[in-house]
Amino acid sequence: MNDIAQPATNELNRVFAAAIAREDQWRQLNAYARAWADAKSGTDAREEIRGKCRKLLANISRLEHCWAYPGTRLLDSLRGSLEGGDATAFARLVQKASAALQSGDFRREDAAWDTNADGDTRVIDAMPPDIDGGVGKPYFEVLIVTPSDPAQWQRADDEVRRMRRPEDQFQYVPVHVGSFEDAALAVMVNTNIQSVVLVDGFQYASKHDLPDLREFLKRNMDVDQGSVEPGALSTRLAQAINGFRPELDLFLLSDRTPELLAASDEAACIRRVFHNIEEPMELHLAILDGIKDRFETPYFDNLKKYATRPIGTFHALPIARGKSVFGSNWIRDMGHFYGTNILFAESSATTGGLDSLLEPTGNIKKMQDATARAFGAKLAFLGTNGTSTSNKIVVQAICKPGDIVIVDRNCHKSHHYGMVLSGAQPYYVEAFPLVQYSMYGAVPLRTIKKALLDCKAEGNLDRVKVIDMTNCTFDGHMYNPRRVMEECLAIKPDLVFLWDEAWFGFARFNPLHRARTAMGAAAALTRRYRSKAYRDEYNAWKEKSANLDDNALLDAHGMPDPDKVRIRVYQTNSTHKSMSAFRQGSMMLVWDDDWGQVEGPFKEAFFAHTSTSPNLQLLASLDLARRQMELEGYALTMRMTELALRLRKTINSHPLISKYFRVATPADMIPPEFRESGISDYGPPHGSWADMIHAWHNDEFALDPTRITLICGAAGFDGTQFKGILASDFDIQINKTSRNSVLVQTNINNTHSDAALLIKALADLSRDIDKRLEQGGQAERAAFDARVKSLMTDVPDLPNFSRFQDAFRDNAKARSNEGNMRPAFFLSYDADNCEYVRLDSEEVERRLKEGPEMVSAHFVIPYPPGFPIMVPGQVITADTITFMRKLDVKEIHGYQHALGLKLIKPEVLAGKSFSSTR
Ligand SMILES: *Cc1c(COP(=O)(O)O)cnc(C)c1O
Repeated sequence: MNDIAQPATNELNRVFAAAIAREDQWRQLNAYARAWADAKSGTDAREEIRGKCRKLLANISRLEHCWAYPGTRLLDSLRGSLEGGDATAFARLVQKASAALQSGDFRREDAAWDTNADGDTRVIDAMPPDIDGGVGKPYFEVLIVTPSDPAQWQRADDEVRRMRRPEDQFQYVPVHVGSFEDAALAVMVNTNIQSVVLVDGFQYASKHDLPDLREFLKRNMDVDQGSVEPGALSTRLAQAINGFRPELDLFLLSDRTPELLAASDEAACIRRVFHNIEEPMELHLAILDGIKDRFETPYFDNLKKYATRPIGTFHALPIARGKSVFGSNWIRDMGHFYGTNILFAESSATTGGLDSLLEPTGNIKKMQDATARAFGAKLAFLGTNGTSTSNKIVVQAICKPGDIVIVDRNCHKSHHYGMVLSGAQPYYVEAFPLVQYSMYGAVPLRTIKKALLDCKAEGNLDRVKVIDMTNCTFDGHMYNPRRVMEECLAIKPDLVFLWDEAWFGFARFNPLHRARTAMGAAAALTRRYRSKAYRDEYNAWKEKSANLDDNALLDAHGMPDPDKVRIRVYQTNSTHKSMSAFRQGSMMLVWDDDWGQVEGPFKEAFFAHTSTSPNLQLLASLDLARRQMELEGYALTMRMTELALRLRKTINSHPLISKYFRVATPADMIPPEFRESGISDYGPPHGSWADMIHAWHNDEFALDPTRITLICGAAGFDGTQFKGILASDFDIQINKTSRNSVLVQTNINNTHSDAALLIKALADLSRDIDKRLEQGGQAERAAFDARVKSLMTDVPDLPNFSRFQDAFRDNAKARSNEGNMRPAFFLSYDADNCEYVRLDSEEVERRLKEGPEMVSAHFVIPYPPGFPIMVPGQVITADTITFMRKLDVKEIHGYQHALGLKLIKPEVLAGKSFSSTR
């Protein structure tokens, strides 16, 4: 048995870990309790192990007041058995509590709550999960922050229980706390909490002995006692909770005039204000109603109803209601495999409440509103053809021909195609390269600002419409969107931002990731620019920097004029990549102060790209994914993050595994100039958790820990090969590879067992390599070293975007690099305009040296890395050729090896201009 677990307070700073750490501690207490019960009576060993139980129980107890289960009764019983020396009873109770916590049985089974002290607990209404459409009677906890005497809390609980009605759709158990600090702590660590009731008059300071609680609150919620006025405790707590977990319903019970309070700005985040305990039943119903709002899935609910109605179908879609399937002689297995419901839920009708995705007025409209609320946007639209199409819709909605878009060259191809479709001119900017791993990072803010200022110098600033970036990147680079937008808006106050958050939709649901999301930043900046404090800060800055020229502005933190600035932010996300939606389920989120200008074009773009037969199941799954995140997104995203942090730590500190494998740390993935905090890895010993949170909030880039770049080159595997081994030998699927790494990501579905499986695979492989090297002697060793060297050090340079050929430039001499890609793209439609040169031909060498310039006719996109090495109209330079020659991947879109590079013939371009299409 290992030694006593860390005291709970040391774990406290690890926000992500609190809930998991608690389960671990209960598991450990269970092991001690068994050992105590098994130890021979009367021995020193027995007393010693009892001492350990006492110490660990005391540690656990420090935070237990944050949860309803196991609760005071069970804990009191436990202490009773411990002090009374009844090891058997103690072990039995610990076993029960620990098992119920691990399995979640306390949500469903009243027996889990029973202490045997008195038989009449009846805390939970058990209901088999197959009743009620498969979810049973979902359980949650309500936090009650109250000035009342703790001796009264048990009675209050019993009262709540008496209010339950059989027809209630959900059930809850209250958790009482007596102070601001305890409430904030409970909201952070207890993921079962869905609603908070604030009873005016509670105190600020916790009575519990939690020395680092204050620091913790300051870091995570930005509150300390000094900053809260005694009269404003309730509203301040409501705001702090709302900032941390915006999905929670807040209720206030107050003696003050509730009418006045309800209308005040401070109380805007409070769902309802009641006059002190006037109507306990009203409060009960309001609590349930709040859950119902999040639980309701308007589209899915209706689809279920629709599927059970007897309907004769005379519209298209023969499989609707399974008719062509179950009656078939040849394809009945389709029905068996997919089940009846999916066929019963198929229809091509837009009546029967199914609504139309193209002109929503009913369920789909409601679903969009719920999505916007859940994801913190002003508006939300649903995509049924992946973010590939969502990006094209947004690009086409916000750009017209001739507009300049400052865009990461490295972004998903849908953006590039979006430019072709809209006629917008891309100004390609480069992410910082991570040559050692053959990948790109993200685009530095300075690069983006320089592009803006270049356009300004050319007199083209008015044409720059959009900044288009990927957040986070495939490999986990998270931008600091607040900072990027603020400094860009200081140069042009009405810029539109498109943040492709394909991987990052989940990020809304915990405060650490949320700070780095587009919508989180839009909300934060809106608040900031409306504040008096900002106006003062801005005026001071303006005075100080009156004669700052553009060169100086490049390196200064510019501030936008609060009277001119517009918040115009678009986000797209592949809901299917990070949440429980079917493949291709995607969302477009909007926060645009000038939506009036975009609404019409957005509709056009939506019509242009959206099928008139969108998949109903896919829409329903978007509805469900939203429900899940609004009710358990906090718990799930905290867990996936904690799991990732553990994986990282385990791999990098494992004596055997770390010989051959390594997870890239923030220090590896982000150059120091973009990591101002200097933080090198997550948490101790690399800095405190508080340092990590600080870095996460402030550094130019931070690394999302859930995206784990596992370097396999030092084990002699290239990325593709390693991906194959993991899949074939260990049943582990991973996503992306580079020359010497693979990307492992944790998701809301991952468990400890998944993590264990990966660790085991790495340990097995490391052992194999050890053995092979031992037995193979000198020759084997030399071959291995050479292989590692080729993978880890002889990596090709990544080619930057060269430039558009002059014929596609409005001003060939401009220092900004935008070009008109659309005509180049369409030139290639006419075979007479094109020619091929083979990569290995003499001609390539000659033309690189003597011209005429080789100009790409196509997008050429190798997978990996998955971004265009060439775009239509781009001049092909020597680095690109070198890169292509070294490239050892099979899938290269837009390139046929046998034919060679497809070029636009020089004579088609000579003396011509395809620039202005405006
Ligand atoms: C996957 C991805 C897309 C495309 O999304 P789909 O839902 O697969 O169509 C767009 N952008 C980025 C950054 C992606 O990773």
